[in-house]
Amino acid sequence: MRMLSHQQTQGWDIVGHEHAIEILRRTLAAQQVRHAYLFVGPEHIGKRLLVKRFAQCLLCTGGPDPTISPEAPCNVCLSCRKVLHGNHPDLHIIRRAADKQFILIEQVRELQNASSRRTMEGRRNIFILENVHEMNMQAANCLLKTLEEPEPDVILLLTVPDPGLLLPTIISRVQQIPMQLLSSLQIQQALQEHWDVEAAEAELLAALAAGRMGWAVQAVEDEDLLSERKSQLDLLLKIPTLTRVQRFQLVQQLGSESEKVHALLDLWLLWWRDMVLAANNCLDLTVNVDMRNQLKVQAAKIGTAEAERMIRAIIQTREALEQNVNARVALEVLMLDVPLIKS
Ligand SMILES: [Zn+2]
Repeated sequence: MRMLSHQQTQGWDIVGHEHAIEILRRTLAAQQVRHAYLFVGPEHIGKRLLVKRFAQCLLCTGGPDPTISPEAPCNVCLSCRKVLHGNHPDLHIIRRAADKQFILIEQVRELQNASSRRTMEGRRNIFILENVHEMNMQAANCLLKTLEEPEPDVILLLTVPDPGLLLPTIISRVQQIPMQLLSSLQIQQALQEHWDVEAAEAELLAALAAGRMGWAVQAVEDEDLLSERKSQLDLLLKIPTLTRVQRFQLVQQLGSESEKVHALLDLWLLWWRDMVLAANNCLDLTVNVDMRNQLKVQAAKIGTAEAERMIRAIIQTREALEQNVNARVALEVLMLDVPLIKS
């Protein structure tokens, strides 16, 4: 806990991620900020917040010398507040539009145009590119040009769940900032101390978060999240007892919206990982702590080998989706992979 309050006094206001913050802080202290950083970590781990804090540092004018970036955001100067509210004119955020499959080349061209213009207020032009693996090849090649010949005052902050999803030519031109999962205890304590969550609920949420603080915070702020999760898990529990026809009908209901399917597969992966643990008498290590009885019963019927096969199948499905395979078809194939048991 001392670590956390120490961090907070330093202005980063972030739970965990001490290692990543330390790298960034040293960069700032040495005034050796590079042109491009790649923040790596699974969804909901806290990439967006860390990137925002770093952007605040880069634009902050509240340090002892307003022309030099401080090691931590002051959080009170006009620049810091503008970054927080998302309206700093020198901070540009690029992400895939909800109705598009990719980040498009037009978006990267806009970035290039904006980066060749002078900064409006600060000393730097900052571009945040979220989930940069969601670029199509054209856009990625276009981005590569910017990485190869960066304008002097331009800094790119990219995020990705897994660096393996990017072109090696992109990887070689960025500094990676790896982000690590938090411990359940870290999350639980933070929820109790800073979000006023009761001890029992904080313990459950911390277990379900599986190391991802962002997920835990989302669950505190959005009451529907937990009930949705519960109904999805009830459904998961039912799939092994369904016939082929019923399984295909289920896929129809689930829909094929890419964001939803990704979230669903994350949940499935954790579930089947729990199934493997349950089948090996390691129930106390399962993430879905409130479903342990059901896991135990089903794991006894399914067994380790089948549960492990399901994990591979889910990972393959995720890969297929990254390769742009039709989501409905991919889910149908996966659905047939789920072992059949008698209800
Ligand atoms: Zn500031």
